[in-house]
Amino acid sequence: MKREILLSDISAENLLSSNDMAKLDARGCAGCSYCCREMTDTIILDPWDVHLLAKGLGAGDKNNISLSYLLSEGKAELAVYEGLTLPHLAAADSGKGMSCVFLDSNDRCSIHPFRPGLCRLFPLGRLYENDTFYYFLQSGECKKSERTEVKISNWLGIENLKDYEAYILSWHDIQENIKAYLKDCDEENAKKINMTMLRLFYLMPYEPDRDFYEQFEERKKRIS
Ligand code: SF4
Ligand code: SF4
Repeated sequence: MKREILLSDISAENLLSSNDMAKLDARGCAGCSYCCREMTDTIILDPWDVHLLAKGLGAGDKNNISLSYLLSEGKAELAVYEGLTLPHLAAADSGKGMSCVFLDSNDRCSIHPFRPGLCRLFPLGRLYENDTFYYFLQSGECKKSERTEVKISNWLGIENLKDYEAYILSWHDIQENIKAYLKDCDEENAKKINMTMLRLFYLMPYEPDRDFYEQFEERKKRIS
């Protein structure tokens, strides 16, 4: 679901904000589960996703609300993206090919209320430019062409969306900076940096009763 898009491929009127409307709603996806299959390694989990998922899955003990829980339960896996080690949703053979571990036997998402940000976004993408980002509709990605218009903020269904969007931008910048830094690192240093990033942003549990964004900002200060 992560797409590399050139700004020149998108006209200005297709750059959207969360207040805009877009043709997103495939009427419950009836009979289709295309985007929950075969591509789970492109559904990269950010720290907010991991926190929400682990909490939603009932990792009641606050020490468990982290990536360790998802990895040990086989719900997430690690992969390397441009030098940076990040978690993504795990896949399993459902008998109809590989599919997301959260796709149920009726081809529905079993974790809809706490699904990751990239799942909420689809079929939108994000385009980052000059200290901000835009939403855009990825043409041809959703297999249902008959879709109705929805306001993007309603489609995402995320509380405190402005805080979330500020966090998304900040997390994107951190990753880009670390990826650039990793390009000049030897293998041993790259391993150390990756481990530090994983530990700081994913493995150290976030306190469930405190604001996530506040905790993220505290951690961010530790690498600046
Ligand atoms: S978490 Fe839900 S929406 Fe996302 S890929 Fe898995 S089944 Fe699909
Ligand atoms: S491709 Fe479109 S219709 Fe099919 S599951 Fe994904 S969002 Fe729903």
